Amino acid sequence: MVEDEPNIRDLVCLHLRHEGYDCDAEADGIRALERAGAVRYDLMVLDVMLPGLDGLSLCRAVRNGRLNKDAPILMLTARREESDKVVGLESGADDYLTKPFGVRELVARARALLRRPPLTAGAGPHATEEGIVRIHGVEIDVPKRRVRIDQRDIELTAQEFRMLHLLATHAGIVFSREALLGKIWRGDTFVTVRSVDTLVKRLRRRIEADPAVPRYLLTVWGVGYKFADV
Ligand code: CA
Repeated sequence: MVEDEPNIRDLVCLHLRHEGYDCDAEADGIRALERAGAVRYDLMVLDVMLPGLDGLSLCRAVRNGRLNKDAPILMLTARREESDKVVGLESGADDYLTKPFGVRELVARARALLRRPPLTAGAGPHATEEGIVRIHGVEIDVPKRRVRIDQRDIELTAQEFRMLHLLATHAGIVFSREALLGKIWRGDTFVTVRSVDTLVKRLRRRIEADPAVPRYLLTVWGVGYKFADV
């Protein structure tokens, strides 16, 4: 938890510890970056406004580092313009909260991010023992790479499968186009955010009864895409 305002920092840590998580607190961006280079975290909560190194630069530096490059990152922003930056140009954050926020909201988001499966090495979700994710009538069988919707088999390309799996295992969490680009194409430099829109369109044609009025894959205007909340 990186935040220089002691009241917010202490409150968040208090609640996360109350939930049973270990929570390291840091007030300075540079010191936080040093720590992120030495300790592997399951979740990082970063404020945007920080002394030393601002939260967005810290987020990018963590993503470019080694130990925590895949750690979920939740950003705290003070203003609407800051949250635009968070979801915009490749900050690499997974979710954000605008201040003032309720600490219970933060804990809920933290829990959702901590639940998510690792995105590297083709690891499966821990939704069920058999590696099957079920949500809103959508069934994703990860080991068999099979998708069924309302008992109907759906054929998906590898990319479509990856996007559906990513969004469905993080239902309700909004992904920016840049975040999807990084997570689905992983460093392929020949794709642009337009490729994300195209892939969403294709995926909707396969999984939605009416692609023009999607039930599962929702657009969050000006931000990105999410899978419908539970
Ligand atoms: Ca601050």
